[in-house]
Amino acid sequence: MVFLGPPGAGKGTMAVRVADAASIPHISTGDIFRFNIKNQTDLGKKVKAILDSGELVPDTVTIELVQDRLQKDDARSGFILDGFPRTIPQADALGKMVTLDRVINFELSDEEVVKRLSGRRVHPGSGRTYHVLFSPPRVEGKDDETGEPLVQRDDDKEEAIINRLKVYREQTQPLIDYYRSRGMLVDLDSSPAPDSVYAALADLLALNRA
Ligand code: AMP
Repeated sequence: MVFLGPPGAGKGTMAVRVADAASIPHISTGDIFRFNIKNQTDLGKKVKAILDSGELVPDTVTIELVQDRLQKDDARSGFILDGFPRTIPQADALGKMVTLDRVINFELSDEEVVKRLSGRRVHPGSGRTYHVLFSPPRVEGKDDETGEPLVQRDDDKEEAIINRLKVYREQTQPLIDYYRSRGMLVDLDSSPAPDSVYAALADLLALNRA
């Protein structure tokens, strides 16, 4: 399965829950890049400035990364790709690697994307995320468990969000027609609260609700 949609549409949150319910891995190219940046690997050093600006990592790098990941044993009986493909060449390459069951198109307006992403705060040590409006920490600006300061991801700052949206609309949105014309696309309204979106998604995928 592929989860497609603008940044902030909740693909990652839903992918974690579906992956758990269906016992398949959640593969997020963004998470893989951030892991490499955090650990200062060669790949991390190469892509840090690109992620900070909200641009896309070159297709060749990303495609190779996904190809390697999909060859691991745990992906044999299924997987959720979150954040890949993001361009037509990536979709073409993926089509040569695997047969997809379906592509879920998480729909969300630009206005809602900006509202969601600009309010997101992260605890760098654990990866715990909060939202200043929708799920604030108990004490403003502090992690609930450790009391350590929360930060805003560089790519969640307003300028980068606007650029990520532009990149999404220009380079990734064409994938909606690409998959729709192949009869693989299913639309999902991502504007309701997470539990409602999950319920709709679980029905759609015929999952036992977790
Ligand atoms: P995400 O967490 O999915 O929003 O990804 C964060 C950032 O990682 C993106 O803004 C891109 O810079 C990079 N990235 C993630 N997935 C891809 C991809 N499939 N192709 C190119 N760049 C990607």
